[in-house]
Amino acid sequence: MVNVGIIGAGHSGLQLGFALLQDGDKVTIYSDKRPEDFAGSRLPSSNSVFSRGLDRERELGLNFWEGQKPLIDHTFVRIGDGSGATVVAFDGRFARHGQAIDQRLKFATWLQEFENRGGTVVYGAVGADDLEDIASDHDLTVIAAGKGDITRLFEVDETRLTYRAPQRRILMLSVLDAEHPSPDGVLYNILPGVGEAFGIPMLMANGVAYTWVLEAVPGGPMDRFSGIDSSEAAFDTAMGIFRDFFPWEVERHAQARIADANAWLTGGVPPMVRRPVLTLTSGRQLMGIADVVVLNDPCTGQGANSASEAADIIHRAIRENSDGTFDAEWMEQTFEKFWAYAQWPTLFTNALMGQWPEHAVQLLGAAAELEEIGHRFSGAFNDPRDLPNFFFDPESARRFTESAVHRAKSRTAMTAQFANSLT
Ligand SMILES: Cc1cc2nc3c(=O)[nH]c(=O)nc-3n(C[C@H](O)[C@H](O)[C@H](O)COP(=O)(O)OP(=O)(O)OC[C@H]3O[C@@H](n4cnc5c(N)ncnc54)[C@H](O)[C@@H]3O)c2cc1C
Repeated sequence: MVNVGIIGAGHSGLQLGFALLQDGDKVTIYSDKRPEDFAGSRLPSSNSVFSRGLDRERELGLNFWEGQKPLIDHTFVRIGDGSGATVVAFDGRFARHGQAIDQRLKFATWLQEFENRGGTVVYGAVGADDLEDIASDHDLTVIAAGKGDITRLFEVDETRLTYRAPQRRILMLSVLDAEHPSPDGVLYNILPGVGEAFGIPMLMANGVAYTWVLEAVPGGPMDRFSGIDSSEAAFDTAMGIFRDFFPWEVERHAQARIADANAWLTGGVPPMVRRPVLTLTSGRQLMGIADVVVLNDPCTGQGANSASEAADIIHRAIRENSDGTFDAEWMEQTFEKFWAYAQWPTLFTNALMGQWPEHAVQLLGAAAELEEIGHRFSGAFNDPRDLPNFFFDPESARRFTESAVHRAKSRTAMTAQFANSLT
């Protein structure tokens, strides 16, 4: 039995906590929020979790909202030309659905459940001065504090950073009573050089929402978020953005209203990669996981999915560690296993933040004609390790497009031949 301390009751901390508890380990989670605190807190995320993440939640019996709508079955991509028209529009299907649950509801439920299953929770924000005591109480202490201030104690890994400042200014808000397509999915609107508007269908405590993440290129015409100080102002600004940049989203919101007074957020996410080991004065070492060590802009909806991946990788590494020594070498090796995954969502996010290469524009441009491209692109949100096979470089994009064209032609020819031979 391993005795593990986890600082932070968010996606990675809770998932890891449940996995260890299931194995019979002793787990203590240090949480700055009680379950009842989440309801009155700010909406932190649009939280689209794709099927690989949902599978892990099922394995741990955390799928309290199994099958409840809205489900994420599709990605509806529209690239605008700036005059209100779209130059590219296609729809990609997920092989298996994803789901977004308001993180406030999800984490409050999970945290309560963690205590019900025998886990220990210590309430209160952990400060730097608490770390020696916490680390001395456990065989392994992980810091899963997301974007909390405590993460700054970890050293920045300059070698793995592409950007050093937020590449977008963000307004996120959840709206009820908007029109949803059936089947439902991510509305993924792009205006090159100006910004993006991603709508994630989300289950909230008070209904079915679209949670919009509006991402403005700093200093550009969509960068209108600095004075927002209320849910009403957030809602009005979002509707103005739709009118001015994504007019095809206006009608959907004819009856829409903000989901609750805290269902909005403004800010920016500075991309970050940190070294995974924090060494205290005593020489004790703690390990950072998920957003603490790899933080990306939310434009590709990868953070919670990567947090799920991180929890899974660390859980397996703890099980495989036969001598029970969790030293810096083990932490570094375990982080490298996570980075082997996390480099791909990081590259994906950085690619969509920057100037799109010509081959990527052409590939997605062809998706309107060739539906396999849309499906493959959607699938990459669920598993971004597929991107180097068809998206990141011109050669793989060309090979994939050619083979997709070939398959489409063969399918059409076979269907025609079969139809002709029907009697
Ligand atoms: C606008 C926006 C939209 C997003 N949309 C998506 C999306 O659609 N899909 C997706 O996959 N990801 C999305 N993300 C990212 C995703 O929510 C995070 O990457 C994910 O929750 C990170 O998990 P984590 O375990 O690292 O940290 P978190 O889930 O953030 O949990 C950290 C927890 O630690 C607590 N904490 C912090 N400091 C302390 C302390 N000192 N002591 C005790 N507790 C502490 C925090 O309060 C929090 O509860 C979005 C992020 C943003 C900002």
